[in-house]
Amino acid sequence: MLLIKDGRVLDPASGTDAPRDVLVDGERIAAVARPGELTVRANGAEIFNAASLVVAPGFIDLHCHLREPGGESSETIETGARAAARGGFTAVCPMPNTRPVNDNASVTRAILERAAEVSGVRIWPIGAASAGSKGESLAEIAAMKQAGIVAVSDDGRPIATAKLLRQVMDYCRALDLPVVDHCEDSSLFTGAVMREGTQSVRLGLRGMPAAAESVAVARDVQIAELTGCHLHIAHLSARASLELVRAAKARGLAVSCEVTPHHLMLTDEDVQYDSRYKMNPPLASREDRDALIAGLADGAVDAIATDHAPHEPALKDVEFDRAPFGVIGFETALAAGLELVHAGRLSLLRMVELFTAGPARVLGIKRRLAEGEPADLTVFSTDRDWTFRAAESASKSRNSPFDGRNFRGAPMATIVAGRFAYRR
Ligand SMILES: [Zn+2]
Ligand SMILES: [Zn+2]
Repeated sequence: MLLIKDGRVLDPASGTDAPRDVLVDGERIAAVARPGELTVRANGAEIFNAASLVVAPGFIDLHCHLREPGGESSETIETGARAAARGGFTAVCPMPNTRPVNDNASVTRAILERAAEVSGVRIWPIGAASAGSKGESLAEIAAMKQAGIVAVSDDGRPIATAKLLRQVMDYCRALDLPVVDHCEDSSLFTGAVMREGTQSVRLGLRGMPAAAESVAVARDVQIAELTGCHLHIAHLSARASLELVRAAKARGLAVSCEVTPHHLMLTDEDVQYDSRYKMNPPLASREDRDALIAGLADGAVDAIATDHAPHEPALKDVEFDRAPFGVIGFETALAAGLELVHAGRLSLLRMVELFTAGPARVLGIKRRLAEGEPADLTVFSTDRDWTFRAAESASKSRNSPFDGRNFRGAPMATIVAGRFAYRR
């Protein structure tokens, strides 16, 4: 048994924000009670002192890239899972753009078998929508669902045609799987490396307009309405896209979205000739960023997701134009969320929801800190000062725009099925 003592329990599902002790027995939460009430029952239990710390349901990351199989020089399931645990995540959803692509049950099973051997956190794979994510024919979605995928996506590229998207969505509706789309109209994107605007002109870099994303979101919402399938928009970055999601929700459609910490913390004004600021979708305007933050607070946004995208230094340390898109993000995600809390732009309970009950709802599951639930817990400090050093990351890659940034607040323990996956 494990007694997590004297913490401030935040459980968005029930609205709880109160001092509570949490007793863990085996893989489950055995009891949640006022401080001291469990002392007799917890006799002999290991004690974790959570005084002045927040005890939350386990964080879920809906969007990451673990690169295994095929990209092990940038990340493996083992190193990615360790970085995730250090970031407070108890479950992460790796995208299927591995080599080979996770578009059939044998790849899904291989990922899950590897995860069972080396990962301290839960790995919930996302399967490809189309074979090879090539946008031509359907992937083996039903077989992958049986093997354990939680959603489908061709992330890295959009689902190319409305016709294919319709087929995928008809199929996924029947299987009760969300379709996660990387929304991008490629005809507006060609050759772009950042957001189109004053800064792209100043730097002389090819830009893509915000409409490259929102045009695709508009199409997707209409196909979601046509099919009745749950559409989830990956890494939404533009105000116009968010307005489409907001309108779809108001009409009662099953449409949800996530935003990344880097789109919340940075804008295109931060972009320099430094590939750590190159990601897709690119960093957006200040107006977009403010709209995303408002969307976190008012419920238009469902989740904060990292889009953790490791690239080994040899790939990323090249000219801006030639570098691959993407940044690592597990270890700085919570601290980025807390920056918004400290700035008064987001309540702490809502921030926790965006990492827990919010992403859980997208996956059609519940995430509660309550008796009988799996003992997946994230314990964090809201005020611990620290500096993120990419060189010290558990990830194999170093491509973070937050290298050297000072943060306030950090994960202190990550507990998965009653076991410490990380302890600071
Ligand atoms: Zn993407
Ligand atoms: Zn991605």
